[in-house]
Amino acid sequence: MSQATVESQAVKRDFYGLFINGETVESESGRTMRTVNPATGEVLAEVAKASTADADRAVAAARDAFENGKWKKYPVGRRAKVLHKIADIMRSRFNEIVELEILDTGKSLSAAQGQVSQAIENFEFYAGAIVGHRGTVNNVPGQFHNYTEKEPLGVCAQIIPWNYPLMMASWKVAPAIAVGCSIVVKPASLTPLTAILLGEICTEAGVPAGVVNIVPGSGSEIGNYLVEHEDVDKVAFTGSTPIGKEIMGSASETLKRVTLELGGKSPNIVFADADLEAAVDGSLFGIFYNTGQSCEARSRLYIHEDIYDEFMAKFVEKTKQLKLGNPLDKGTHIGSIIDQNQLNVIDAYVQSAIEEGAEVITGGKPASVEGFEGGYWYEPTIIGQVTQDMKVVKEEIFGPVVVVSTFKDEKEVIKLANDTEYGLGSSIWSTNDGRIKRVANAIRAGIVMVNCPFSAFPGTPFGGYKQSGFGRELCIETLDLYTETKSILSYYGSRPLNPFGM
Ligand code: NAP
Ligand code: MG
Repeated sequence: MSQATVESQAVKRDFYGLFINGETVESESGRTMRTVNPATGEVLAEVAKASTADADRAVAAARDAFENGKWKKYPVGRRAKVLHKIADIMRSRFNEIVELEILDTGKSLSAAQGQVSQAIENFEFYAGAIVGHRGTVNNVPGQFHNYTEKEPLGVCAQIIPWNYPLMMASWKVAPAIAVGCSIVVKPASLTPLTAILLGEICTEAGVPAGVVNIVPGSGSEIGNYLVEHEDVDKVAFTGSTPIGKEIMGSASETLKRVTLELGGKSPNIVFADADLEAAVDGSLFGIFYNTGQSCEARSRLYIHEDIYDEFMAKFVEKTKQLKLGNPLDKGTHIGSIIDQNQLNVIDAYVQSAIEEGAEVITGGKPASVEGFEGGYWYEPTIIGQVTQDMKVVKEEIFGPVVVVSTFKDEKEVIKLANDTEYGLGSSIWSTNDGRIKRVANAIRAGIVMVNCPFSAFPGTPFGGYKQSGFGRELCIETLDLYTETKSILSYYGSRPLNPFGM
């Protein structure tokens, strides 16, 4: 892989179709859209663009597979075996999938490798988890018996963002099909390719036709259409908070089940007693991983005033050393931004910080990367002299930009950390166990990372408090979000019941 170049791809096709009812098809209207390699700005492939008629086809196929198909009736071990097979096929095509993901997103090789590995492990995790997912037997009076069954919810629409196209798809596809649901996946328009591949792989592994359908297309057109669709039982959405709010509103019309994984503005707290080197390296990864285009990016850095100078000397130095370059090269730390629009958004935030009186410590402008002049690149950026009311402190930037300020004590930093409408991630760097426990308990966020820059592994719950959404993915309890609980209450008494006494 390290020798791979953008030109050497054998994996890429010129045209990618929709994947409906186990087959690759064109859109009914014949419409297509283009996906671009954001590292170069070059068109990567033509992709069929689904219309509402195509969404209807996909929902109908999913409904038919759910009502009349065999997938949900398989013994659980058989479904688990198919999930393992999906993982096996993905592993056997690992390099190809990694390269396709890099070409479609501009992310670095190491990031893509980690994310594709995790996607594979998610299928393995749910292959195991589903075997232990079961109902309960409950205490009722002696002549009665009550047990519950976990039944698959039905047809689920799954809407995916562009920042982790395959990994986010795996977070949704694996638990849904593990429990026996049928799904219609709408990938982000900017990054549809690996989700299409995943649909094909599911079918190759033995998932029956119609269970997994992939329909690239516009979010406002078919994404919204799926959310409103009468024949869709659930929508699982990962994306921005404003669209999440719209989805929750539209889904209420049909009382769809909703899972929302939304934005964040996660704090990263470095106490004076922290292992400084580890905190510097972890904070670097916490914000600049995936070019800062992460919902759990630790984008607000709070450093204890006693170590501010020492920390910053190292943090700024290492930030300047981060290598932007060919995403397919092993040595590249930072890939490109997803598109020109996002680049403009990031730069506008930095400009707003300057106008509001903040100081750009390093970075702060689009980057020029040799050989990739047509792509969308931004310098890893640190902004100081910020106050809590500034836009860059309050709003999600979704790029390689971190804001830094100091604090005096635990009480103050807890207040600062929680001073946000979001509540997704958070990091604490300290060697004091009592402090770690107190602060971890006080933070209003779904994820607390202690002396560790990583937010999740397959099995750890991932999701938000407050306006970062609700529902937890990547874990065992996700299976409950794709099932209904049915309670079966039976009477076994020797005399017939006569509750009216008639
Ligand atoms: P986005 O604009 O909200 O789009 C996400 C997905 O929703 C895309 O597939 C998009 O389709 C679709 N969509 C857009 N408008 C829609 C509508 N009205 N109805 C239904 N679907 C619609 O977000 P993004 O810019 O792709 O992703 C970045 C955001 O995702 C960030 O805010 C980030 O924090 C969040 N995120 C959260 C998590 C998490 O787990 N909490 C993980 C990753 C990302 P198009 O592509 O066609 O627009
Ligand atoms: Mg692309």
